[in-house]
Amino acid sequence: MKQFEIAADLQQTLVDHFSGLHSGGGRSSIVGGQSAADSALSQLDISGYAKNRSEVLPVRARGASVLSPYIRHNIITLQQAWDRVAKAPVADRDKFRDELLWQEYARHLYARLSRRLFENLRFEQAWDQAGDGWPKGMACVDFVVDELESDGWLVNQTRMWLASQWTVRNQAGWLHGQERMFRELIDGSRAANLLGWQWTVGSGSGKPYGFARWQVEKRAPGLCGGCALKQKCPIQNFPEEIELAETSFEPLLLSDSNPDQTAGPLLAIKKRPPEMVLLTIDSLGDGDPALTANPTLPAVFIFDENALRKLQLSSKRIFFYLEVLQDLGRRREVLVHLGDPAEFSREHSLAVTYAPVPSFAKYHDLAEIHPYPWLKKPHASSLRSFSAWRGKLK
Ligand SMILES: Cc1cc2nc3c(=O)[nH]c(=O)nc-3n(C[C@H](O)[C@H](O)[C@H](O)COP(=O)(O)OP(=O)(O)OC[C@H]3O[C@@H](n4cnc5c(N)ncnc54)[C@H](O)[C@@H]3O)c2cc1C
Repeated sequence: MKQFEIAADLQQTLVDHFSGLHSGGGRSSIVGGQSAADSALSQLDISGYAKNRSEVLPVRARGASVLSPYIRHNIITLQQAWDRVAKAPVADRDKFRDELLWQEYARHLYARLSRRLFENLRFEQAWDQAGDGWPKGMACVDFVVDELESDGWLVNQTRMWLASQWTVRNQAGWLHGQERMFRELIDGSRAANLLGWQWTVGSGSGKPYGFARWQVEKRAPGLCGGCALKQKCPIQNFPEEIELAETSFEPLLLSDSNPDQTAGPLLAIKKRPPEMVLLTIDSLGDGDPALTANPTLPAVFIFDENALRKLQLSSKRIFFYLEVLQDLGRRREVLVHLGDPAEFSREHSLAVTYAPVPSFAKYHDLAEIHPYPWLKKPHASSLRSFSAWRGKLK
């Protein structure tokens, strides 16, 4: 287990401690940390959101909030984002809140289905077939892949273009496409990324999203004009609509026999006094329940060395986490390690906030477990579709 100083220069920190543990790719323009998140939330103005959330170019026409890196890590909770737009124009407020609910739906799905969400959920689609679904040459795809790789963030519309291009158009397995996107996205979460891919390629919904020149001209006017393929556009027409075969039935989609386990504790479990608060990537805000319950204890974050070596995340993601921790370090004592989080949890008495993800099971005998900040408590009814799930929310 190596420990390093979080107040140090982060560029140097990456060089000194993360060699072999990332795939490069520089730093995003979106800065990590509670301070940056608070500033983004206070400046949030969603007037026009309903009409403009899918705009791609020009950049100034985009109506998306760009809050996702903060929401994904609960630096801004869904409840805070929900409350913040209370006074926005009704159509914009309702559309924005719908999207927050999609995020919550993704979290509920992943909490219940766990690693099953990595496989075709309801319909057969190209899954693990090898191949690069984003060959170079089309101005639209090149532009979006470049934005993904240089900044680590995309509007929802272009995420759908990429997923559709990869699998619906090019029949490359979506499992690999989602992994490539996950490596780059600074809001990358298994829950939302897997949901986004499954619903775009049709394995989750049965209706593959057809990517065509029409969307590019509508959402990014001017892009096609500079394309070498503008006279022989490979996506001139919509792809043929096909009916996907159903996969074998997944009973967990219809009901959950143990919703309390899926949700995690709803009240804090306290076994003994903790010596520090362990932060996980699923809860990195100053308002983390375990942190706020233990205001005098140091916070600790463990970069999982083996996981990083395997995942080869972009350096943009590593920088984002380092920025979050550095920012927190201005207000609290923060200890940062590189090593094995499971081993650390065996050797220390830790308070932690529950995370509804399979990897949470690696922690041992935690001193305190605090509830995850759900927007809506997971229910035991159907998750087959967003509307079925939503209809059963309390
Ligand atoms: C293929 C694909 C992959 C995706 N991967 C991720 C991912 O790894 N992480 C991630 O957070 N989102 C993912 N999304 C969902 C969505 O694209 C992003 O959340 C959104 O683009 C973030 O931009 P924003 O904050 O400006 O969103 P806004 O439009 O301003 O929406 C506000 C918030 O609502 C939530 N939200 C919006 N749209 C969606 C959606 N379709 N699904 C779930 N939540 C949504 C996000 O938390 C977002 O920050 C993916 C979508 C697709 C189609």
